[in-house]
Amino acid sequence: MVRIGIAASLMFAGSAGAVLAQAGPVRGDAAVATSGQASGPDFLARPFGAVRPLSSGIRLSGPPVQGALLRGKVPTGVVALDLDGVKVPLAEDGEFLLGFHRDAPTLGVLTVNFADGTVMAEPLAIEPRSWRREFIAIAARGGVPSEAFMARRKPELEMIAAARLRASDSTGWRQPFIWPATGRVSGIFGSQRVYAGEPGAFHSGVDVAGPTGTPIVAPADGVVILAAPTPFSLEGNLLMIDHGMGLNSAFLHLSSIDVKDGERVRQGQQIGRIGATGRATGPHLHWSMKWNDARIDPQNLVPAMSALGK
Ligand SMILES: [Zn+2]
Repeated sequence: MVRIGIAASLMFAGSAGAVLAQAGPVRGDAAVATSGQASGPDFLARPFGAVRPLSSGIRLSGPPVQGALLRGKVPTGVVALDLDGVKVPLAEDGEFLLGFHRDAPTLGVLTVNFADGTVMAEPLAIEPRSWRREFIAIAARGGVPSEAFMARRKPELEMIAAARLRASDSTGWRQPFIWPATGRVSGIFGSQRVYAGEPGAFHSGVDVAGPTGTPIVAPADGVVILAAPTPFSLEGNLLMIDHGMGLNSAFLHLSSIDVKDGERVRQGQQIGRIGATGRATGPHLHWSMKWNDARIDPQNLVPAMSALGK
């Protein structure tokens, strides 16, 4: 446990070396906290008492793992929280979400601000995951994108960025998530192709194959933050839904979008249909999720597809 004053914490935050040097006594606690069950589909339902609290009194629903999303609760008296300098939104009851990017460093630091001005730095050991890699002998196709492509792409990226800034008051983040579509999982989160030694971008979501026109439902309550008016060059018909607390979902390649921008949706409500619009080799749903800027694995939030008999 490291309980430090504000002045000390500023020094602390300013020097990665100091964090590592002082992390020693705390890492033991972190290790205990991370030795619980692996994160699973019931992460939202798991009682907090099942996992040992961190030194600060914060409780987490599971171990920090790359690509995972955890639910947590701060003890009374905590007024603000950040993970590696990124503000963690806190609900009125002290609950919050904590997501770990696919390539998150194996040591994170939670900075915990108490009402009395005390600041604690709580190191978190983040378990690495081994991601599927496919090695391709030839160089990637493409090369430098054309001016025409960039001219079309720029406003698309701006719309996506603007959508992500639209935080809603949705409480969908508190629900156990359901699959937006069921079927064969044809692509998994985090996988990556390496072309002649050059790694390509990792796969940012999970793919579910299905015939064009198959209904897609909202995996949890939320607010529509983007319903692409025309198909985007890569994503095709793109729909984005905010679930609150920095958590959002994107649904790509749809053949139709059945909800409107700003609309509140309920878990299980039809929001669109599977398609192959944009860059897709066949009809499937690509479902990706972000918590703040962290890309997380949607399969962490839902039951195994095999458990559904699919
Ligand atoms: Zn995909």
